[in-house]
Amino acid sequence: MLSENISLNPKDIAIVGLPFDEFSSFMKGPAKAPQEIRKLLHNGSMNMCAESGIDLSETGRLKDMGDFKPISHPEDVVKPLCEIIDKGAHLISLGGDHSLSYGTIKAHSKYYQGLTVLHLDAHPDLHEEYDGNLYSHACPFARVMEQGLASRLIQVGIRTLTPHQKNQADKFGVEIIQMKDWSPTMNLNLEGSVYLSFDIDVLDPSYAPGISHHEPGGMSTRDAIDFLNNQKMNLIGADIMEYNPDRDINGMTGVVCGKLLKEIAAKMLS
Ligand code: MN
Ligand code: MN
Repeated sequence: MLSENISLNPKDIAIVGLPFDEFSSFMKGPAKAPQEIRKLLHNGSMNMCAESGIDLSETGRLKDMGDFKPISHPEDVVKPLCEIIDKGAHLISLGGDHSLSYGTIKAHSKYYQGLTVLHLDAHPDLHEEYDGNLYSHACPFARVMEQGLASRLIQVGIRTLTPHQKNQADKFGVEIIQMKDWSPTMNLNLEGSVYLSFDIDVLDPSYAPGISHHEPGGMSTRDAIDFLNNQKMNLIGADIMEYNPDRDINGMTGVVCGKLLKEIAAKMLS
């Protein structure tokens, strides 16, 4: 259940935790992420100002709706998230494993026609199936494209492209900017409504060790923030996925998630 005591107005930013990691292929832990991110965000070590100068604590527009649970399948999140989007609020979902983005994008696709999905990740997550599960965290973007939930999918920071996933990307017309070809100054010319799916493992493990799949050669936190702020886009929804507190060191990855949350929220308000 989500909090029903918090009133949402159009253009408010609703934060929802999605504590689910049952569809992770390698290790569990991301279900603990939403509570850990909140704890680190509010423990007094950082203020709520984004780099643009917006003080999110002053705007009264950032509203934490709590965690939605229980979740036993990514489909379970569609209905409760639709109730939030229906109020005209912008939603930032905190995972949880990346399987959930099938559900978060499905919810947004019901309200935004011709959705563009900007997906930052070390992995394309385009597998036809993984370990016999069509909804594994290795598969969400195959399901999104099969079901026509996005008209454009742009994957950025990829550095694990297998032949199978390359075939899948070609089949679905996915645009991939591999990490080796990426620059933070790139302008993607994003049009229409944009949904951002941010898998924390797009960052280099030296910046964000609290993830299940360490994949070296990734972005710095600085470059990722600059890249997002460089895009002129109508950002209508976002998720931050795959933070695994069990693998973190002194909460440093959780603080990165909190920092991203502030920057994404400020981008939505700008
Ligand atoms: Mn992912
Ligand atoms: Mn990943």
